[in-house]
Amino acid sequence: MQPSLATQAMLARAVRLGAQLRIAEVTGARYARGRSGGASGRIVGIETNAGPIEADAVVNCAGPWAGEVAALLGTRLDIRPRRGMILVTVPMPQRVFHKVYDADYVGAVGSADAALQTSTVVESTPAGTVLIGSSRERVGFSDALALPALAGIAAKATRLFPFLADTMVLRSYHGFRPYAPDHLPAIGADGGIDGLFHAAGHEGAGIGLAPTTGELVAHAVLGTPAPLDPTPFLPTRAALREEAA
Ligand SMILES: Cc1cc2nc3c(=O)[nH]c(=O)nc-3n(C[C@H](O)[C@H](O)[C@H](O)COP(=O)(O)OP(=O)(O)OC[C@H]3O[C@@H](n4cnc5c(N)ncnc54)[C@H](O)[C@@H]3O)c2cc1C
Repeated sequence: MQPSLATQAMLARAVRLGAQLRIAEVTGARYARGRSGGASGRIVGIETNAGPIEADAVVNCAGPWAGEVAALLGTRLDIRPRRGMILVTVPMPQRVFHKVYDADYVGAVGSADAALQTSTVVESTPAGTVLIGSSRERVGFSDALALPALAGIAAKATRLFPFLADTMVLRSYHGFRPYAPDHLPAIGADGGIDGLFHAAGHEGAGIGLAPTTGELVAHAVLGTPAPLDPTPFLPTRAALREEAA
């Protein structure tokens, strides 16, 4: 699956079903007026750089920025960026037939360490390139080229697939995974602000977990029973509300 194509397809479907797309940066929240005239604990919309938007429900799904957006909306959610780098080879006749992980991957995903960790994930694409990952490090939203991370993933991948040592690398890229300190996503009602929901913190699995997340959010917003127990993912859990270590 190509995530950007999947996103465009789902968006097109939503628009066909009546959704409106507005591209704007969230800058704050709009609250209902309480009996005393002050702001109540119910969100009734958002402020953006393109003007206010009214809403019966607001879902914070800002990925690695979800903690910052939560703060803009007046609440706390401990989601942090976790940078990951990928190497992309030149196109070649197919030699990698399955996505291959090494066992380091499991340890790296579950680690709370902010320092660089590398593990091997190798897969080929329909275009013939081979994607070589992956790294994990918590360095904020740093865009600095990380040679130690690239060297680390290249060294590990060539141990698993020796032919890669003679393969040209076309490019590298990086992204930021949304990291939660207890390694579970935050899905459901905010708990402190009525009408506000979160769907963030899926770390390195947010594409695969998107359909189930959408379903859980829809049930949370509508107040209907979810198809699975949402309790472990509730944003109200202590791990997401404590001050960052
Ligand atoms: C190297 C790498 C490899 C990965 N491999 C996989 C994989 O194989 N499988 C998998 O399932 N997942 C993978 N992931 C993880 C996956 O990319 C994420 O889990 C997923 O993108 C999270 O989706 P999201 O919608 O929560 O956040 P994002 O996709 O990050 O979207 C958040 C959006 O919020 C927007 N935003 C931020 N602030 C504001 C604001 N103030 N106002 C308005 N909008 C705002 C951003 O512009 C962005 O569009 C990988 C990630 C990396 C970095």
